[in-house]
Amino acid sequence: MDLAFTKENEEFRQEIRDFLDENWPEEKRTGEVTEFGRDEYIAWHKKLAAKGWVAPSWPKEYGGPGWTPTQKYIFAEEMAKAETFNVLPFNIGMVGPVIYTFANEEQKKRFLPATLNCDIWWCQGYSEPGSGSDLASLRTKAVRDGDHYVVNGSKTWTTLAQHADWIFCLVKTDSEAKAQESISFLLIDMKTPGITVRPIITMGGDHEVNEVFLEDVRVPVENLIGEENKGWTYAKFLLMHERSGIAGTHVCKKALSRLREVASDKSLYGDAPILMDDAEFRRKVSEIEMDLMALEYTELRALAGEEAGKGPGAESSILKIRGTELQQRISHLAVEVAGYYAMPFQRGLTGNETPSGPEHTVDAAAGYFNKRKTSIYGGSNEIQRNIIAKAILGL
Ligand SMILES: Cc1cc2nc3c(=O)[nH]c(=O)nc-3n(C[C@H](O)[C@H](O)[C@H](O)COP(=O)(O)OP(=O)(O)OC[C@H]3O[C@@H](n4cnc5c(N)ncnc54)[C@H](O)[C@@H]3O)c2cc1C
Repeated sequence: MDLAFTKENEEFRQEIRDFLDENWPEEKRTGEVTEFGRDEYIAWHKKLAAKGWVAPSWPKEYGGPGWTPTQKYIFAEEMAKAETFNVLPFNIGMVGPVIYTFANEEQKKRFLPATLNCDIWWCQGYSEPGSGSDLASLRTKAVRDGDHYVVNGSKTWTTLAQHADWIFCLVKTDSEAKAQESISFLLIDMKTPGITVRPIITMGGDHEVNEVFLEDVRVPVENLIGEENKGWTYAKFLLMHERSGIAGTHVCKKALSRLREVASDKSLYGDAPILMDDAEFRRKVSEIEMDLMALEYTELRALAGEEAGKGPGAESSILKIRGTELQQRISHLAVEVAGYYAMPFQRGLTGNETPSGPEHTVDAAAGYFNKRKTSIYGGSNEIQRNIIAKAILGL
């Protein structure tokens, strides 16, 4: 892959910048957004979809823009620089690829355009109490009753289920067979009677995750993806797509450059020396910068592999581990930069309240706590190390 950007690449970059200047103006570029307003989020998603840019990795025939890996890279970089919302990962990085790869033609016609355009907001019903890392042990049952499955069980940690229209669920359809041969992949309308969503508030103060209870939920058999009891294959395929999207390299770069800016701002430190003049602090920043660069090259190699027709493989576990570690290290450093001002919990100040320190300190603690999740979700980092040991190192 040629990493020197050509004239065409630079023109492409300018096209993205022009679009963002018009559609994601300066006043929206206020730092990382961890809380989601449903309508705003959907509006942004639709804007990108209308432009044909919402799903850079999808094949062109299903609505992808047909970009080269370099163009995808430039696009992601410019989106991160402008601090836009991410597009909904459940739609674009998760269920979409499963549908265009394994669903029948009717399901593709029914679900792909709505998924691409965010007319359906999907959530992910994989984890259950007691079945996270050991996902195949899940117990939510789907029993066939004529043209329907009757689903009973519960899911947990379901991100943004409070906003979701549909849930893609792993369910057990054979109580006798081996765990991996008894699971099916079912699409369920969240409005179906028998579904209850209860919030879980995380230690950062966010309402991102939920419990979902399913009681005698009747799901038409036509909502089954692929073959009954073959869901484990589709589930693993989805997880590889999910993990490669978690690295967040560009977001890390943006966060780090913001951190550098603040740590170099003389006006914040009065007579005291600025943090960037502190050798120990500079060492920490440089180490992160070097690791980030290495991650970026690994990500580019994965993109080049995709161009050569390889889907995301076990290397997505490497991206997941390193990317999430870096996100955590940067959030840790942000607390260090905020110093004592990170101590009061100032999350969600209203317009009338005055923060106790400079603006960058307001979300430092909440951001730090929020980022603890990254090494757990999408399959914990310990489990990713097991995958690398087995699938890459052959141990
Ligand atoms: C913020 C957040 C959002 C999430 N969103 C979703 C979602 O939308 N949908 C969804 O389905 N799930 C979601 N999850 C669930 C997530 O995928 C699981 O939390 C994750 O897979 C870990 O499972 P667990 O919580 O059951 O931990 P456990 O499996 O109980 O693991 C506990 C600890 O033991 C370690 N461990 C377990 N087994 C092994 C082993 N064999 N070898 C080494 N170490 C091991 C783990 O790494 C971990 O550190 C989310 C989780 C979080 C935190």
